[in-house]
Amino acid sequence: MGDRDTQIVRTTTWSVGPGCHGGCGVLAHIKGGKLVKIEGDRGHPWNQGHLCARVLAMTQYVEHSDRLTKPQASFVPGTLFLLSTHNHQALSFSIFVDL
Ligand code: SF4
Repeated sequence: MGDRDTQIVRTTTWSVGPGCHGGCGVLAHIKGGKLVKIEGDRGHPWNQGHLCARVLAMTQYVEHSDRLTKPQASFVPGTLFLLSTHNHQALSFSIFVDL
């Protein structure tokens, strides 16, 4: 149960995804625009409130200071390499619409 300042959003891991695609039902607790807690949705027919460690750790990596929030790329003449580490520049998602 959230407090007055916390919004609880019923969704699935399809949309808040920790990189999975099973579609477990979750209740995402949002406070001040930030994800502060994830709990299993007991009313969801697939996972019935149960969650794996992967999604339970989501509050740790969603707000992580090293998290990439934009596509990263390193350009080489004639090619485009997508990277997620160093030696890159941040891109807008719109560039991929034109590819
Ligand atoms: S079990 Fe975990 S990894 Fe699999 S879909 Fe559910 S939350 Fe995602």
